[in-house]
Amino acid sequence: MPFNDELKNILTSTERFLKQQQELYGDTIFVSKNEPLSAEVSQMTDSANTVHTAPEIDLFGNSAQPTPGRQITGEPIVPAFPNESWTKTKSLEELDNAINTCMKCGLGKTRIKFVFGVGNPKADVVVVGEAPGADEDEKGEPFVGRAGQLLNKILEAVQFKREEVFICNILKCRPPNNRDPQTEEIDCCEPYLWKQLEILKPKMILCAGRIAGQSLLKTNSSLTLLRGKVHDYRGIPLMVTYHPAALLRNPNWKRPCWEDMQQFRKMYDEMKDKKS
Ligand code: URA
Repeated sequence: MPFNDELKNILTSTERFLKQQQELYGDTIFVSKNEPLSAEVSQMTDSANTVHTAPEIDLFGNSAQPTPGRQITGEPIVPAFPNESWTKTKSLEELDNAINTCMKCGLGKTRIKFVFGVGNPKADVVVVGEAPGADEDEKGEPFVGRAGQLLNKILEAVQFKREEVFICNILKCRPPNNRDPQTEEIDCCEPYLWKQLEILKPKMILCAGRIAGQSLLKTNSSLTLLRGKVHDYRGIPLMVTYHPAALLRNPNWKRPCWEDMQQFRKMYDEMKDKKS
């Protein structure tokens, strides 16, 4: 193979590898003492019940544990609401009307539609994604594009209908070019989600992707550490799995996602059985 083509192949593979690493770990590059570097390989052999105890190590040999005070399990997280009038709303409709003209961050200027969330106001299950994409921005509804279609299939695979759950995002407005949400945008927008959860009082929360899990749990843990476990969000069991858009890019992650979803469904059924 000519040298230029070979170099191009290496760069393409490296880019793909780094993208996968970012989906799992964020913007820090991790190397583990115990695991092979390939996220795909370790994910393929992971079981949904695995509790990851081996600390992740960053490139500089530091343990990449959650930052102090940001616990991943156990302690309920009590969000501090800003002192604003929308915090007094009592229903989803009232809340939507109070916040859908929000201009707190720059995304207010670039959005087409504010994407509040959709679904059953009495849902037992709330699915939280990252942020609206182009399709969602246009329609004003979360998860309606390709990733949304896959999310519907994932839910159906464990006998949840889209209409039965409530679906929303950490950010209510689309970041330009689908870039990752910025910290200031999350800080402005996430209290709206806390309020949605306070009104909905779901029995279980499913976070689609690392960013949703990290934001709600106030942790910088990687997706590898977050998934396969049950976390606590203000007394509500919360699980984190792959974002459907990541599954579209890496179909090898469908199997571990399926295992997460089975665990989620099992917990849901057990909880329902206890109630009846
Ligand atoms: N990705 C998300 O995280 N949310 C959406 O609503 C659509 C795509």
